[in-house]
Amino acid sequence: MIVTSKAILETSLQAYKQGKPFAIGAYNVNNMEQMQGIMMAAQESKSPVIVQVSRGALKYAQDLYLVNIIKAGAELNPEVPLAIHLDHGNSFETVKRAISLGFTSVMIDGSLMEDAKTPSTFEYNVKVTSEVVKYAHDLGVSVEGELGTLGGIEDGVGSGQTHLTDPDQAVEFVERTGVDALAISIGTSHGAYKFKGEPKLAFDIIERIRKYLPNTYLVSHGSSSVPQELLAIVNKYGGDMPDAKGVPIEALQKAIACGINKINVDTDIRLAATGAIRKFFVENPRAFDPREYNKVAREAIAAEVKKRMEAFGTAGHSAEVPNWGLEEMKKQYKA
Ligand SMILES: [Zn+2]
Repeated sequence: MIVTSKAILETSLQAYKQGKPFAIGAYNVNNMEQMQGIMMAAQESKSPVIVQVSRGALKYAQDLYLVNIIKAGAELNPEVPLAIHLDHGNSFETVKRAISLGFTSVMIDGSLMEDAKTPSTFEYNVKVTSEVVKYAHDLGVSVEGELGTLGGIEDGVGSGQTHLTDPDQAVEFVERTGVDALAISIGTSHGAYKFKGEPKLAFDIIERIRKYLPNTYLVSHGSSSVPQELLAIVNKYGGDMPDAKGVPIEALQKAIACGINKINVDTDIRLAATGAIRKFFVENPRAFDPREYNKVAREAIAAEVKKRMEAFGTAGHSAEVPNWGLEEMKKQYKA
């Protein structure tokens, strides 16, 4: 069942308000096996899911291929509430294209200029985000904005500088733009090398923003965990990623308890696939059928995503998600 991300995130927000918080994982997709792995995990664990696509993925796969693979995943798994989300939209034009392809949710990242590198001003961010909200809500599409910038660079997105979100500014931003969801900078970082020393998250910032904005869905980007066991497989079978470090699951669980609703995971899916394929080739030097190594990658992705769905508490919640597709949300936004 394809729904808006608002339908899925509202379920998380209501659970928080009832003292039983859980978060929704948003998993990045670039090809068929990733989509299949994510859907296997969602189906098995009865989890709603946000599948997200970056501009880099749209370019790599030619957007039509990717969108139709995602739609096939929805059709084959009708019990899984699924939102198709644009990750880090850089401009109004990118957002319009995504919506025309059938995305039910978009991010406009106005914390950076259109080049997705240069930090913008607050006023620029408000302006571009407001324009997107007006356009998207008329069509029933959910919108995520971003305030503050994350460290790290991934898929060419990021300034490489960390600016934690100012909670007072977050209130002004949400009031002036009308976004449904807000990505906040709390010390997480994009990519596989998130921390040099001990990972540290600003839980006090989440708590304050949650208190000031009780009805806004809060999003944590750059939140892969880079599990040591995945890294060990990559490095054992010819990889060279000794210093990779992510956000520990326990820290993410504490962030969920503080009020985070959506957690973005990309790097861990990449690591699971890479480790599985490296291992396969070392153990099967005569293999050359892409179906064989893509299959082990797909299984490794499914297993890793299922672990996240269980750790974030998403598992078992698929039946609670309301059927808020684009038509229903058009009505709600109008009212
Ligand atoms: Zn991000």
